[in-house]
Amino acid sequence: MMTIIVFCLLFSGVLFFSYKKYKRIFANIKLGREYSNPNPTSEKLKNMTLIALGQKKMFSRPVAAIFHLFIYVAFVFTQLELIEILIDGFTGSHRILGHAMMNCCPMVYSGLINLIEILSLLALIATLVFLSRRNLLKLPRLNMAELKGWPMKDANIILIGEIFLVFGIFLMNSAESAWLNTNAQEGYHFILSSMLGNLFIGLNSETLHYLSQTGWWMHLIGIFGFILYLPHSKHLHILLAFPNAYLSNPNAKGKMDYMPEILHEIKSMMGESVEASDPNVIPKFGAKDVFDLSQKNLLDAYACTECGRCTSACPANQTGKKLSPRKIMMDTRDRLEEVGKILDSNNNEWKDDGKSLLHSYISVEELRGCTTCNACVEECPVNISPLDIIVQLRRNLIMEESNSPQEWNGMFGNIENNGAPWKFAQSERGNWSK
Ligand code: SF4
Ligand code: SF4
Repeated sequence: MMTIIVFCLLFSGVLFFSYKKYKRIFANIKLGREYSNPNPTSEKLKNMTLIALGQKKMFSRPVAAIFHLFIYVAFVFTQLELIEILIDGFTGSHRILGHAMMNCCPMVYSGLINLIEILSLLALIATLVFLSRRNLLKLPRLNMAELKGWPMKDANIILIGEIFLVFGIFLMNSAESAWLNTNAQEGYHFILSSMLGNLFIGLNSETLHYLSQTGWWMHLIGIFGFILYLPHSKHLHILLAFPNAYLSNPNAKGKMDYMPEILHEIKSMMGESVEASDPNVIPKFGAKDVFDLSQKNLLDAYACTECGRCTSACPANQTGKKLSPRKIMMDTRDRLEEVGKILDSNNNEWKDDGKSLLHSYISVEELRGCTTCNACVEECPVNISPLDIIVQLRRNLIMEESNSPQEWNGMFGNIENNGAPWKFAQSERGNWSK
């Protein structure tokens, strides 16, 4: 009975605290401008299936993709064992599905757990590879300046957590196999854990039972910890990659959205009829802070895996410029989190903190480094566009702050006055032909 009470208390605590955090993240994303993807639902579902579920874009780097796939598939299948663990926790039973299935279809149950064990072993190998390339091989993409401190710890915490989870599963299954063996009882025919159970030969029944229970609690606490930790981590992409791929920008890469305010101005300059704008509304050009970005941009920020594929493909970054598209996404998320905390502590009312995404997080130097080549958009495995945010911030910089390189100002003036980058009046355009 005590076990059921402890389990239920832990379960309720995890639900309560994770719900609070997920609710805040959802509210944060809603702070952005409304976004809609006009693609038909079938197209959106296709994108989601190929990119989030099928990890299509990951395979541009096959070795990393295969190791990532081990972890991903193991994660999906382990959820089946988790269902049994949760039912056992609520009912105080042990292997409730196992007992039910061992009577009717024993091969299905043992086959399933064997599959989970094999996938868990592959996931363990992949986790060790990922830990080594980050910490021992010091892969440049995974050791850049923006990853110093918390982002590096975050990546390592999750990888170490995965080892803890796998260790829990194997301890539980192998100690139980050894216990069944010691007590001359019919086993479950779990191949890997039966072999590991040989390590426990000589231990008495009570110790084996205790070890198996320890493995069960280790795995459960690992899962609960994971659920609580996920919304604070870049690993939130496990969930958000799906809506993110579903809502992917339907436009061709490189197609920029025009600014309706500018279109309005141009039309009126050219004498076209336009709807009179509301004199009480001051048009805003581009984005200065997270409120000015679209909800998709903000979803992108939470869906970013911090893999750095965008940065390693960025020509500006490669030539030593300060710009890193991954940092643009991380900065956007950090600022959004900061805004969320201010709203939380002020009853959801915004109190200006004197900061903004532009300048406080992302510098002019970074924004000016971008060539708008779209390489970062092409590379991103979860269809994120750092470029979209860069362009919006740059528009604000130039149109609201008139903060552009000196050499550009003359060109802007010419475009505004003459409709062309050159300083000649429109009436003189044909002079070259004389
Ligand atoms: S669009 Fe800009 S940020 Fe993206 S890869 Fe090209 S230069 Fe880098
Ligand atoms: S934007 Fe995409 S490619 Fe860049 S770090 Fe994030 S997930 Fe990786």
